[in-house]
Amino acid sequence: MKTKFIFVTGGVLSSLGKGLTAASIGTLLENRGLDITIMKMDPYLNIDPGTMNPFQHGEVFVTEDGAETDLDLGHYERFTNVNLKRENSVTAGQVYETVIAKERRGEYLGGTVQVIPHITDEIKDRIHRVAKGRDVAIVEIGGTVGDIESLPFLEAIRQFRNDVGDENVVFVHLTLLPYLGTSGELKTKPTQHSVQKLREIGIQPDFLLCRTDRALPADIAKKIALFCNVRAENVIGALDVSNIYEVPLKYFEQGLDEKITRRLGLKTRAKGLQKWAKVVETMASPRSGTAEIGLVGKYVDLTESYKSVTEALIHGGIANQCRVLIRYIDSELLEKGDIAAELKGLNGILVPGAFGHRGVEGKIRAIRYAREKQIPYLGICFGLQLALIEFARSVCHLQKATSREFSNTGEFVIDLMEDQRQVQRLGGSMRLGSYLCKLTPGSLAAATYGSTQIHERHRHRYEVNNHYRAPLSKAGLVFSGIDPGLQLVEILEFPKHPWFLACQFHPEFKSKPFSPHPIFAGFVKAALKASLTRTKDSLKRGTPVRRPEGHSHRSWARA
Ligand code: GLN
Repeated sequence: MKTKFIFVTGGVLSSLGKGLTAASIGTLLENRGLDITIMKMDPYLNIDPGTMNPFQHGEVFVTEDGAETDLDLGHYERFTNVNLKRENSVTAGQVYETVIAKERRGEYLGGTVQVIPHITDEIKDRIHRVAKGRDVAIVEIGGTVGDIESLPFLEAIRQFRNDVGDENVVFVHLTLLPYLGTSGELKTKPTQHSVQKLREIGIQPDFLLCRTDRALPADIAKKIALFCNVRAENVIGALDVSNIYEVPLKYFEQGLDEKITRRLGLKTRAKGLQKWAKVVETMASPRSGTAEIGLVGKYVDLTESYKSVTEALIHGGIANQCRVLIRYIDSELLEKGDIAAELKGLNGILVPGAFGHRGVEGKIRAIRYAREKQIPYLGICFGLQLALIEFARSVCHLQKATSREFSNTGEFVIDLMEDQRQVQRLGGSMRLGSYLCKLTPGSLAAATYGSTQIHERHRHRYEVNNHYRAPLSKAGLVFSGIDPGLQLVEILEFPKHPWFLACQFHPEFKSKPFSPHPIFAGFVKAALKASLTRTKDSLKRGTPVRRPEGHSHRSWARA
């Protein structure tokens, strides 16, 4: 069978949820038995987002093979069964780097190297390479139509349709229909203009997915169809939802997959989406209660930076049929003052990955509080390194314990390995991707995984200094996960505690709504237990427990 291509573009403004749309189309096509892949094309000049500040970019998602990629790839993996690789994430930087390197090798035989055809050819080659052998390749083009940066990508996909044939390509365009209170209607002009922009460069969208905060009336859909030269039945509402896992269901209800596959001549039939409906239902009416988790970090003003962690916590809630409330806490605010007041009411504390010294002491204070007050604690990457520093300082009397990352002097319980000392280029040079880890039988880690051998993804430069392992173990810390090849600490736990576990890797990248990651399921279970015990205790004492209002953000904007 010839591979089919679905290109997803976005108009009007950014953050409309293109990534979720691409991921949801993936869900729906897999549900029809198709073998798919999903790619992201980012128009910026960085080679990858690995060197970008989380405030600029949000989370960096790490693939099994160690690529640092856009957070939309996280959605693709959570929503589908695809195993994404380095080549699924393309940036303008990579494309230009390849073309310029070829030019330097003289491969263009004296020709003038230009955006068309050299850059566009390289973009098309990359799409073909990833799509090879698949039934369908979904390609999301980052940025908003009308941006200078995305032009080469749009030009490449315009050519693509001519190269592989009209019957093998579908263009899906996501736009916004703002509701204007003063006139009391959904406005179509921004959508019209964004489609005009696309058509100016030769792309006629086949489908328009219109983000709205209310149902899309048939007459508005008709009007858009007329002005944008799209069939009325292909103008589809993309209604705001409170839960991102509803998105595939909403598109399914409107027959998006049916219409796309028909347009592509794919003879397939959809199975039901009961499994998705069940996830949404479990989240809407959690039977077992609520666990409130404090996420202590320094990027809390942009919670996008913690996308996979947030999702994995929610998956942990699904596993335990409970609601997970996330309180994002700025670690800098914990450096001074009454920590008990700041962390009051939390049933679990999580310190996620981070870089640099800002807010470190606040995180260490939070970890100490969790350890001493017996509050379930999960440390991820930096959260392991700081837990180890805290323990070394408070329990092992190594007051000067620190990491070489944020100090020049002291006892480097967290240090750089030899190979990292040689590193000169910051991009792509951390310990990245999947590594084997062996777990100690009988440990909390082994019980949590139900196994003694696991593979998890890494993204860090610093490691636990093996030199300090003996004194720390003697003081009660257990190193229950070890990389057998590198002999490095992967997991630590503190058994004199209801649930205290930290890992050097990032378990959040492998969690899915249908297979919540065991570490998140275990952590949320412990937090839920703490919450229920607390409720019982206070009932006995007759003091009501304050329940926090609302849920953490669940918008699907860039989502
Ligand atoms: N900054 C730490 C390191 O590089 C931890 C990184 C992380 O948390 N992802 O080792």
